[in-house]
Amino acid sequence: MLTPRASGLARKGRPWFFADDVGRGDRPADGLVRVLDAEGRDLGLGLWSAAARLCLRLCGPWEVGNGSSDVPDRVAFYGQRVRSAVARRDRLRGAGRGCRLVHGESDGLPGIVVDEYDGVCVVQVTSAAVEAAMDALVPAVVDATGARAVLARNDVPVRRLEGLPREVRWLHGRPEEEVEIEEHGVRHRIALTAGHKTGFYLDQRPARALVQQLARGRRALDAFSYQGGFALAALSGGAEEVVALDQSGTALERAQRGATRNGFEGLRTIQGNAFTEMRALRDGSASFGLVVVDPPAFAKNRREVRGAQRGYRDLNRLALRLLAPGGHLVTCSCSHHVDLPGFEDLVRQGAAGLPFRTMLRGRLGAGEDHPAWMSLPESEYLKVLHLQRVDA
Ligand code: SAH
Repeated sequence: MLTPRASGLARKGRPWFFADDVGRGDRPADGLVRVLDAEGRDLGLGLWSAAARLCLRLCGPWEVGNGSSDVPDRVAFYGQRVRSAVARRDRLRGAGRGCRLVHGESDGLPGIVVDEYDGVCVVQVTSAAVEAAMDALVPAVVDATGARAVLARNDVPVRRLEGLPREVRWLHGRPEEEVEIEEHGVRHRIALTAGHKTGFYLDQRPARALVQQLARGRRALDAFSYQGGFALAALSGGAEEVVALDQSGTALERAQRGATRNGFEGLRTIQGNAFTEMRALRDGSASFGLVVVDPPAFAKNRREVRGAQRGYRDLNRLALRLLAPGGHLVTCSCSHHVDLPGFEDLVRQGAAGLPFRTMLRGRLGAGEDHPAWMSLPESEYLKVLHLQRVDA
């Protein structure tokens, strides 16, 4: 049962609660619980993780049949929720495709991500309440998708907050190292156990489509390229030359292999710190008709926000200075702790005083398989601005 204060917050739509928000006597085992407000009104189901600071996450209404217990069987719960999440993405799935099937809270499944890559599902669990129900979750995923294999990419640091070990483990089917997906006509290889996140930045699908459209005849820079998701999109869209810049040599090798596999020519790579290398490009009077800047989250927590702000400001200034007249910049932030107005303000500061106008041509976010839930602003983490340099 929630405290009166927390009940007020719940009425305003807040779905996350901490130990102080919950009545003292209430300490059930990790898993599904029925949540009541201070007046005893039903707030639906919640996931309870006793050891976590964020111990209770609401996961929406759930009617239980006449006279039965007030919490559903976990097989029924995960079965139903995963089936619905997968059904909502029917149009986006298919052989040879990549798609996020479960996007945590937005799909009524807090602490769970499921990404599908050509028939292999990759699961990431960041809640002890869910970890206690893997025996129900994994069959639910296999039933709903027909996946030939399921991998747990539970190597994310946030698992520590829930007292969970970090591990990568096959949960179903035969291990595979790599699979291939196609997106906007480009083939991308996915390193299942070793790649970033669950293997690929699926959330940037809309921005890769934009880059593909903008690229024709232009010289492009893909800064923070990883394995060249944007670089390959630009080459497929007819870019004359693309420079992929990343500090990781392995990522750049993968980008180069990706270009070869797709039959693209014109990919050049620079290994190094993006700030230093972009400064060096600028000092060498390099200019680009298209620049993409997609750094990792600079602010991993609130304490890092100040440094992150400086990072975004400097980086975007550098990127703008590399634009040829009429050139386009696609700039991204995936920091939860920097919101869209905040990010735009930093870019505005970065653009201040440059000898051209920086126009806002559009805003993008994560693709529709990563839906944002209005009650949880954190679920709308990816901000992408499309800017253009206009002279005179
Ligand atoms: N744009 C990519 C995803 C980028 S992930 C895509 O669409 O797939 C962020 C990348 O930034 C990682 O590959 C990481 O190696 C790289 N990186 C992090 N800090 C960096 C820095 N200071 N300089 C250069 N690369 C950096």
